[in-house]
Amino acid sequence: MHRIDIHDRVRAQRAERVARERQRQRRTVTRRDGVRLEVDGRWLTGFCSNDYLGLATQFEVGAALQDAAAREGVGGAASHLVCGHHALHEQLEREMAEWLGVPRALLFGSGFTANLAVQQALLGDEDVCVQDRLNHASLIDASRLAGCRLRRYPHADAEGAMRQLRNAPGGAAMLATDGVFSMDGDVAPLRALALAARSQQALFYVDDAHGIGVLGPEGRGSVAEAGLTVEDVPLQLATLGKALGGLGAVVAGDADLVEHLAGTARPYLYTTALPPAVAAATLAAVRLARRDEWRRERVREHVARFREAASREGLELVASSTPIQPGLCGSEAAALAMSRAREEAGFLVAAIRPPTVPEGGCRLRVTLTAAHTRDQVEQLVQALAAARDRTAAAVAIA
Ligand SMILES: *Cc1c(COP(=O)(O)O)cnc(C)c1O
Repeated sequence: MHRIDIHDRVRAQRAERVARERQRQRRTVTRRDGVRLEVDGRWLTGFCSNDYLGLATQFEVGAALQDAAAREGVGGAASHLVCGHHALHEQLEREMAEWLGVPRALLFGSGFTANLAVQQALLGDEDVCVQDRLNHASLIDASRLAGCRLRRYPHADAEGAMRQLRNAPGGAAMLATDGVFSMDGDVAPLRALALAARSQQALFYVDDAHGIGVLGPEGRGSVAEAGLTVEDVPLQLATLGKALGGLGAVVAGDADLVEHLAGTARPYLYTTALPPAVAAATLAAVRLARRDEWRRERVREHVARFREAASREGLELVASSTPIQPGLCGSEAAALAMSRAREEAGFLVAAIRPPTVPEGGCRLRVTLTAAHTRDQVEQLVQALAAARDRTAAAVAIA
């Protein structure tokens, strides 16, 4: 019998990535000061974090973490069902549920595991999960873990979702979408999708990783902004590591469904609880996110300013009204060259390449936050225009 040697395969795959300039490199941040990052000994202005409200480095959030850590220590120490479930976790779940206007919320260590848990606990091999083609990787992988059929529909196409649901009769069905698409910044057509789900008796699940804190009244996210309730969206995901500046996620919605996750979802049961101090920090962040409308206002102003200045410079932008403002570059070489040119000008912007986005869909993913200043946003646009002029003429920011 001949077995494939895993070392050999790894080496071959790496060689191929190197040949295609697709090897991923981590950049090490040595110091942070708001949106300023020290990377490889140079201070850059970052336009790539998901800390949309500027809460990750907010004083009160850090103070809450320190206070709780001084009292409760660091580690979660055990899983929630053993002895890791702390009153701070409980309080965070209560306040998240109250904020989102739903009966119940369940805290997870990350959005990725929360997505795995939802499908693993609710779907089996007789069932189907219908998903937007551009959904986040964790939603796709969740269907694999659940063992259900996975059917994808063209991006933001509610008719397509309806068709896929109709074509998969028998068994239970879930319709799952990102609320705000993480690489495109557009908002899913939630009302039309909710109708499709309802008419096909599918459970509608919205992953609002990039909408929570940013969109809707009090920052309640894309579901609230669309005027939908727990009747329409029985479960939604709110991540705590993006606009809320911390770590973790909650699945919020229908009490019976959430209870079921808490009792049966393997990615919930068999993992250590988040540090209670992280829950304390997130509680402080949630209160600020609800109260500080000015943070959302500031982000909206930056988005408008960025788009206006970019169009004045003749940079073509993707239709997005959220803080995620991608510039498509097409080829990987162009995306990398643009990203390097901007770094030379003092800005850190992520070049996003396959497999994170489809082939030919390379982009610079600009994210704007309440912690940026007007000047920084304007300087970024200048740097963008200069980088465009310097890189190959063929490169259009579209
Ligand atoms: C970031 C993200 C996740 C994962 O959340 P983490 O808390 O970072 O694990 C899930 N879904 C979407 C759409 C995301 O953008």
